[in-house]
This record gives sequence, C-alpha cells and structure tokens, in this order.
Amino acid sequence: MTRTAIVTGAGRGIGAATARRLAADGHAVAVLDLDAAHCADTVAAIADAGGTAIAVGADVSDASAVEAAVQRVVDELGAPTILVNNAGILRDNLLFKMTEDDWDAVMNVHLRGAFLMSRAVQAHQVAAGWGRIVNLSSTSALGNRGQANYSAAKAGMQGLTKTLAIELGRYGVTANAIAPGFIVTDMTRATAERIGVGFDDFVAHAAKEIPVARAGQPDDIAAAASFFCSEEAGFVSGQVLYVAGGPRA
Ligand code: NAP
Repeated sequence: MTRTAIVTGAGRGIGAATARRLAADGHAVAVLDLDAAHCADTVAAIADAGGTAIAVGADVSDASAVEAAVQRVVDELGAPTILVNNAGILRDNLLFKMTEDDWDAVMNVHLRGAFLMSRAVQAHQVAAGWGRIVNLSSTSALGNRGQANYSAAKAGMQGLTKTLAIELGRYGVTANAIAPGFIVTDMTRATAERIGVGFDDFVAHAAKEIPVARAGQPDDIAAAASFFCSEEAGFVSGQVLYVAGGPRA
C-alpha cells in the first residue's frame, strides 16, 4: 500500500538512502532538509527510479517551520503517516571544553526536532488509524568519549521512542528506534577530519573493531527503516535495533 513518508535530514547520508528505499518500497516521499536545494540529488534519484518525491526545506528545531513543512506535504503528497526522524548534527568536545551552544545545538536538532516532527505528524497518523515513526538513535547512546551532548540526545531518542509507542499504539501507530554503529557518511568523514586522520584509515580502523569486519553503509540503516515502516511490522513497537555489525559499537 502506498503511504506518504517524511524523512528528515534526507539530503545526504543515511536520510537520503532511507528516502530512496521508502520510495522503492512504493511510498511517496517528502525529502526534508535544512535547505530544499540540498534535497535535489535525493529527489532526482527517486524520480529517476520511477518514484515520487518532493523537496521540503525546513529546520526541524523550528516549530513554525515544522508546521509549515508538514502542511506542505499534506497539500502536495497527502497526509503523512510514515515519519523517519533522521536529521542530526555533531558538536563533539570533551566535557570541559563543551560550550552551552554545543549542548543546545545538538539537543535542538535531535530531540526537539524529533519531538516537533512527531507532534505534527501524529495528528495525521491518528486520523488515518495507521502510522510508523522511526527515530535515529546511535550506539553513542551507550556512552562515547567527547559526545556528552550527542550521547545524551541519542539516549533521549530511545526514551522518546518508547513513550511514543505507548501513547500512539492504540491508534495503529508504531514507534521504533535504530541505533547505528559506524556508518560511512559525511558525518563520520567530518569526525575523521576533526581528529586529523585520513578517512580511509579511519574507516579501516573502525572495521577492525566490528565483528562483521566492515563499516556500515547508509543502505544498511535504510533496510532496517524499511522493515519498521512495513505493514507487517505492526506488532513491533517501542524497540531499539542496534545496526552496528555486532553486539557493540
Ligand atoms: P549527515 O551525513 O551529516 O547528514 C545529516 C543530515 O541532517 C544533513 O542532510 C543535514 O542537512 C540534516 N540536518 C542537520 N540539521 C538539520 C536541521 N536542523 N533540520 C533539518 N535537517 C538537518 O549524517 P548521517 O551520518 O547521515 O546521520 C543521519 C542520522 O544518523 C543522524 O541522526 C546521526 O546522528 C545518526 N547516526 C549516524 C551514524 C554514522 O556513523 N554516520 C551513527 C549513528 C547514528 P545539511 O546537509 O543542510 O547540513
């Protein structure tokens, strides 16, 4: 069955792969990113593959922008019943060097963004009596040096997910979280740059610690999102799936 999906932070990386996958699954996809121009490649890839997508520019941490973006999706694609809260940023620093801006920026995009998007979309899910919410957590939720802000936000995403599952379950809406390990994207590329390591070496070093002996790819996460968003996953809710090539980060 064709649904309307919104994937945030879908201009690149995991969000782009997830948007392409949901479109391949037959859904109409709103590709949402900070700047609509950043969505062009993802929208074109979906259209080239025969799917339906629109580009939507919005900052997920801005309540009025979120309301306007969701209304645009309703008007252009129909009421959204699938939501993937994927938009994310890093502001890594050891605690003693972490600024209040580092803390607030990460909380705002991940947690406030997922809250605002979920609040706006749930109205349409409840009205439809069906919905799927997928939140991007991280293995960093278990604790990670230099990521006091990010690990707190990603642990928060798990609590948010479980509460959404409890509140929305009676309306046919499931909420689940995916906690990726090391995935090859611009985000991990930026981390390598920040610590002054070549990206290939960084990926190779990460792969040595991963039981399946490779780094993850955005499509690994998109596949998990596709399952959680499927019709047949209706009895799976409030779960956190670690997609990390092994039991630990
Ligand atoms: P990425 O390549 O850095 O992409 C993040 C996307 O989010 C970008 O398109 C970015 O837009 C968008 N974004 C940032 N702030 C936004 C905002 N306020 N409103 C709307 N969009 C915003 O990251 P990624 O590696 O694909 O990560 C995707 C998600 O997976 C994140 O939540 C991340 O924390 C999580 N994750 C990633 C990894 C990994 O190893 N890569 C591991 C665990 C979890 P711009 O292009 O405009 O900046």
